[in-house]
Amino acid sequence: MIEAVDIHKRFGHVEVLRGIDLEVAAGEVFCLIGPSGSGKSTFLRCINHLETIDAGNLRVDGDLVGFEQHGNVLHALPEKKIARKRAEIGMVFQRFNLFPHMTALQNVMEAPIRVRKESRTIALERALALLDRVGLADRRDNYPSQLSGGQQQRVAIARALAMQPKLMLFDEPTSALDPELVGDVLQVMRSLAEDGMTMVVVTHEMAFARDVGDALVFVDGGRVVESGHPRDVLTNPQHPRTQSFLSRLG
Ligand code: ADP
Ligand code: MG
Repeated sequence: MIEAVDIHKRFGHVEVLRGIDLEVAAGEVFCLIGPSGSGKSTFLRCINHLETIDAGNLRVDGDLVGFEQHGNVLHALPEKKIARKRAEIGMVFQRFNLFPHMTALQNVMEAPIRVRKESRTIALERALALLDRVGLADRRDNYPSQLSGGQQQRVAIARALAMQPKLMLFDEPTSALDPELVGDVLQVMRSLAEDGMTMVVVTHEMAFARDVGDALVFVDGGRVVESGHPRDVLTNPQHPRTQSFLSRLG
C-alpha cells in the first residue's frame, strides 16, 4: 500500500528526513516510533500530500505521490487531483480538529456531502453506523465542546472513516488525552485493525504496538534505525539508539 524509497525532506537548511525506506502492506498495522523531532509527522504528512518530498520515491497504492506520468515524463499533480488523492487517505491527528460549530453527526457527514457530493440520505446512514461503531451513537447531537477528548477523538476517527479511505494515518492519536480516555480510542483502532484496515500509526503506546502492530520501525534523526516485528523490536532491540529510547520510556 505504501512504498517509500530513500525519502528526503528539508525545511530550509535542516534535513528532516534523511533517506526513509519502508514498505507497508495492505491490511497491515504499521507502527512508527521515535523521539520527538525525528520526522515522524513530516513523513505522514508527505504520504498525505501535506508536504512535498525533495528526493526519493513515494508510492501509495501504486501511484507516485505528487506526480502523474504522461508517457515517460512526470508532471506535478494538479491541486484538484491532489485533493482527490487526499480524500482516499484518512488522517487522525493528536488534536482532534473537529468543526466546533457542528454536532458529532454533522462533523461525520460533512466531507462526504461537501467533497464527495453524496446524498444526505446515504451520508446520514453511514455516519450513524460509524458513530455507533465508535461507541457514540447516543452522542450524535453533541457539539465537540460537550464531549471528552477521547469522545472527540473517536468522532474524528468516524469522520475520517466516512470518506471510506483505503488507508488510515494516525499521528499520536492518544497523546493529548487524559490516561483514562486512551483505552476507548485504542479499542476503536484495534477493531479497525481487525477489520483489515491498512493503518500507519505514530504512537508512544508500546502495548498497542506490541499487541496490534504487524510491523514497527524506530525512526531517529530522519532515518529508519531499526525495523521488524513489534514484539521483537520492543522486547529485544538491536540498535543502541532503540535500546536507549525504549529504556527511557520505561
Ligand atoms: P516528530 O513528529 O517526529 O516529532 P516532526 O516531523 O514534527 O517530528 O519534525 C521534525 C523536524 O522538522 C523538527 O525539527 C521540526 O521542528 C521540523 N519541522 C517540521 N515541520 C516544519 C516546517 N513546516 N517548517 C520548518 N521546520 C519544520
Ligand atoms: Mg509528530
